[in-house]
Amino acid sequence: MAGIGTKCVQAGYTPKNGEPRQIPIIESTTFKYDTGDAMGALFDLEASGYFYSRLQNPTCDAVAAKIAALEGGTAAMLTSSGQAASFLAMFNLCSAGDHVVSSSAIYGGTYNLLAVTMKRMGISSTFVSPDCTEEELEAAFTPETKLVFGETVANPALNVLDIEKFARAAHRHGVPLIVDNTFPTPVNCRPMEWGADIVTHSTTKYMDGHGSAVGGAIIDSGKFDWMAHADKFPGLCTPDESYHGITYAEKFGQGGAFITKATAQLMRDLGVTPSPMSAYLLNLGLESLHVRMARHCASAQKVAEFLAANDAIAWVNYPGLPSSKDHALAVKYMPNGTCGVISFGVRGGRAAAGRFMEALRLIAIETHVADARSCCLHPATTTHRQMNDDELLAAGVSADLVRLSVGLEDADDLIADISAALAAAAK
Ligand SMILES: *Cc1c(COP(=O)(O)O)cnc(C)c1O
Repeated sequence: MAGIGTKCVQAGYTPKNGEPRQIPIIESTTFKYDTGDAMGALFDLEASGYFYSRLQNPTCDAVAAKIAALEGGTAAMLTSSGQAASFLAMFNLCSAGDHVVSSSAIYGGTYNLLAVTMKRMGISSTFVSPDCTEEELEAAFTPETKLVFGETVANPALNVLDIEKFARAAHRHGVPLIVDNTFPTPVNCRPMEWGADIVTHSTTKYMDGHGSAVGGAIIDSGKFDWMAHADKFPGLCTPDESYHGITYAEKFGQGGAFITKATAQLMRDLGVTPSPMSAYLLNLGLESLHVRMARHCASAQKVAEFLAANDAIAWVNYPGLPSSKDHALAVKYMPNGTCGVISFGVRGGRAAAGRFMEALRLIAIETHVADARSCCLHPATTTHRQMNDDELLAAGVSADLVRLSVGLEDADDLIADISAALAAAAK
């Protein structure tokens, strides 16, 4: 069994004699066959192969196979974005009338997806604090609950999910736990080893790592026994009339049913397809993921410690600091580090935070996080600028909050940049 670094570099694609060492970019929408029967067998899911790149493409599949190996799953697929991955993973299990239990500490886009868009489709959600007791979590379930959702390290709140607590509750109710593992990546945490059944990613962040391609991924652990809960999951356990009466859980087994259904049915109908070129760029990022994550975490730890010791800083939230309320969970689930994102408050509130940001030279103002170049965002003067201080607090964002994504520059240079900007902001 190869180590995680070896998998980052080589998993998913093994060239044969004389073939390209790097993954070929197969920019072809379609694939040629000698007989109609040969192609028919693919359409019937009787044979595996390629016929149309909306459903599957060899470049994308090689990169998906690498991500499956990294997470320890049995099957995986790429999607056009992280949002598409979250939606497909959940919609593969839910229909109108169904219900989702989700941690409240999740990415804003995922919150909107559940609270607004999926609600319009008739799928309701109950949000629970990640710090809830087992009893509070238990009370969130209804007979219609089809899945539990959480984020390993939440963007931007940075809460650490107690994966085992959420997995136990999901499994008591005969439903899977889906975990968005974008921030730690499988280098720092493999949620399936702690009971998660399905993992999703915005590959746009650290996996790509260079701010070049938007993308997503879904990975199945193959551990959830759909047939044991066939009444809850008719889409997997009864014939799909739109696919010649195939029953996915029977034909593709526990390890293949989930991803096959999401591909054959949802990708077919919704077309949130990644491009082969984007998959190639993602793979370039994956080849150095283990090296980059170690550096992001080491630098973020240094920067967080500098901030925590600085009088111009009101508070610092980073799971790697012993002062973080989730430090024990971070040490348990991510002993090698969490991610490179830190949030903190600048003394003097909204105006001081704004002056601080404008005085930064190396660290750029961006809405993005998790790539090689350090960046930061002050929600009160940018994404949330229409809100007053009270409205901000209600949204869980304080007026002084700055979110900093620590990149791959020298940590000492970043600290010098922050230090000079704090001095300028104090004037
Ligand atoms: C960015 C992000 C998403 C959404 O991904 P996109 O690739 O932007 O669609 C989902 N979850 C988390 C944790 C994210 O950070």
